Amino acid sequence: MTVRGTLYTVSAPSGAGKTSLVNALIESIDDISVSVSHTTRACRPGEENGVNYHFIDVEQFKAMVKADEFVEHAEVFGNFYGTAKSTVDALLATGVDVILEIDWQGADQISQVFPDTVGIFILPPSIEALRTRLTGRGQDNEEIIEHRMAQAISEMSHYVEADYVIINEDFDRALVEFRSIIQAQRLTLDNQQARHGEQLQKLLS
Ligand code: 5GP
Repeated sequence: MTVRGTLYTVSAPSGAGKTSLVNALIESIDDISVSVSHTTRACRPGEENGVNYHFIDVEQFKAMVKADEFVEHAEVFGNFYGTAKSTVDALLATGVDVILEIDWQGADQISQVFPDTVGIFILPPSIEALRTRLTGRGQDNEEIIEHRMAQAISEMSHYVEADYVIINEDFDRALVEFRSIIQAQRLTLDNQQARHGEQLQKLLS
């Protein structure tokens, strides 16, 4: 029987470096996958349908909600996002650990459905650093930047609900910390017994 992997929710305000950290993590550690969510927001330049998200329209999204196809879904800043049950079930069945890059509302719903979920929150080191990251290439006006800051602060206020908090001041260090969380989780008594039960039993016989 394949032992089920651990489910992680990774949340962060926009500008904290979440997607870059998740991408670097899955490049540097085996047996871990990222779930691809469904969203109604427009595909951004450089994004690919089925890779970054499954891009669908509001009607399709509502039909999926009605058919109870999401394990969690939420409206985030005017767009709908959801994690399909089928996506998570298929990944977990292979025994790999699964990362859900979702907002605090989704993380809250997931922890109710799967109480063993490990919640990770990624934060910027300071408000100034966040503002610098959100200001980007300086193409947006002050009003848009203030709006993004308010959204980021609203998301960040939920970091206290997570099990682990990473402060992304230095990317390489944050990545080491992220990897440490996954590795430590794989070594808990429950996970070691589930994966190496026979071997452990033999030690005492
Ligand atoms: P973005 O549109 O910038 O990719 O993501 C906006 C926000 O939606 C981020 O906080 C992201 O974590 C969240 N998000 C992405 N996918 C999902 C999902 O499937 N469910 C929920 N609840 N939030 C999601």
